[in-house]
Amino acid sequence: MVFYLKKYDLLLIHPPRVLRPDYRKNAKFIRGTFLFLPMGVFAIADLLEKEGFGVKILNYPLEQYLNRNWKLTNFLKNIDFKVCGLDLHWIHNAHGAIEVAKIVKKANPNSKVVLGGYSASYYHYQILKYYEDIDAIIRGEGEIPLLKYVQCIKKNQSLENVPNLSYRDSSKHIKINSLTYTAKTLDNLNFTNFSLLENAKQYFESSRQMMGISFNLPIGRGCPFNCPYCGGGQRAQKILSGRENVILRKPEKIIDDISSISNNFKIPSIFFGHGTYPATLKYWKRLFGLIQKEDFDIGGDLEIWRLPFPKDMWNAFYKTFPRRYSSLSISPRTMSSRVHQKIAKLCDPTFNFPKKQINDLIKNANLYRRTLRIWLTVGFPFQTHLDIQKDFIFALKCQLKYGKSSSKPITIMNEPYHVFPGSPAHESPEKFGLKLTLNSFPQISEFFKRTKISFFYNAINYETSNFSKMSIRNANMLLFLSTILTSLTTGSNLSD
Ligand code: SF4
Repeated sequence: MVFYLKKYDLLLIHPPRVLRPDYRKNAKFIRGTFLFLPMGVFAIADLLEKEGFGVKILNYPLEQYLNRNWKLTNFLKNIDFKVCGLDLHWIHNAHGAIEVAKIVKKANPNSKVVLGGYSASYYHYQILKYYEDIDAIIRGEGEIPLLKYVQCIKKNQSLENVPNLSYRDSSKHIKINSLTYTAKTLDNLNFTNFSLLENAKQYFESSRQMMGISFNLPIGRGCPFNCPYCGGGQRAQKILSGRENVILRKPEKIIDDISSISNNFKIPSIFFGHGTYPATLKYWKRLFGLIQKEDFDIGGDLEIWRLPFPKDMWNAFYKTFPRRYSSLSISPRTMSSRVHQKIAKLCDPTFNFPKKQINDLIKNANLYRRTLRIWLTVGFPFQTHLDIQKDFIFALKCQLKYGKSSSKPITIMNEPYHVFPGSPAHESPEKFGLKLTLNSFPQISEFFKRTKISFFYNAINYETSNFSKMSIRNANMLLFLSTILTSLTTGSNLSD
């Protein structure tokens, strides 16, 4: 019998954190597994398919979740491919991406392995320098650069004109092409071609089970703000992808996506991949108006990036989404206005979450009976022990007042943070009173190899003048435990 290998031009693999996680016997797979594909992956895959290339998307942690004995090497044995793209967007995949590259190269030494995503963009030079299984890195926004890369590889052409590309040439020299591509619009891209993903149905179901979110829906690109630990803010995106401004998709396109998702999969809610702030309130109201006209039975999870979030927005959110499976979230990180003011001065004048406006949010969440999540943390820059005590008191008061009844929908959430590459605090830690504990990509990759995947976030890469890594973790754990009642009694078990 003749056995034909299935052929692809491009195999996209979402890597795991570690190849064989120790989930202990019968332990459930957990949130730290990072099951999500970065939002742009479907659009990249769809574009290449439209251009006539054979494309497949494989989600490594998902496959392993579905079958504990699943092995990438076995999957690769049955296919042939020219280029393998690995997303290294979130730094948590720093070890997994390198390990997957090794497996791919061993299985198919003639293939090219290319990385993309924010973290790969930030560390492009170090990755090419230290890891020879990686042939190239696409920096910044990837759809056109990856298309051109695959075209050049198929035709055996020079790579010197591929935008945003860093690569090793035939003499093993690292070449860095200019960062010239950033998308002007996203309306020509399709973010919902799920047919290219292996086990797409299970992806949606498992994402909800493990990560609490079914699907991150792309709304736009860019962010006008600069939160201290975020690697996706305005200045970080300028460095990583050359993006100068925010672009938003046409609301009609979002409606098409929600239709496509709800027609194909049974999912309880959509997480919107862009937040609200004064400049986008009109946009959100228009989108909500269009959603109301449709017959979707779907909840919405929306972040408030900057205040105010006026009462008419609450009203629009209330009319658009059922109570069950819907939420609003805000991340002041601490209730200390002294800390907010210091950060506002250092990196972002809009970083302002006045107590009065937070209280208004709480009031409106109760009025409209919609879940409001307030995210705090221990370990934010300039926080003192007194600030932490006050945050504990705020959290406990919320718990006592709203935590015992399912009719009062306030949830205090918290976890330790990671200072992401490219973020304001990562670029100037001393200004923020921080000391970073990992200073090169190999160190980071080793760190994620060793850090156990746990329910409670533990990949802390810094200490502050007031808190060591250990005290950041322990104090966050304590805050989490003291507010867990509110998390258990609000949100998804409610109906209108
Ligand atoms: S955390 Fe801050 S900087 Fe990052 S995307 Fe959200 S609002 Fe923008």
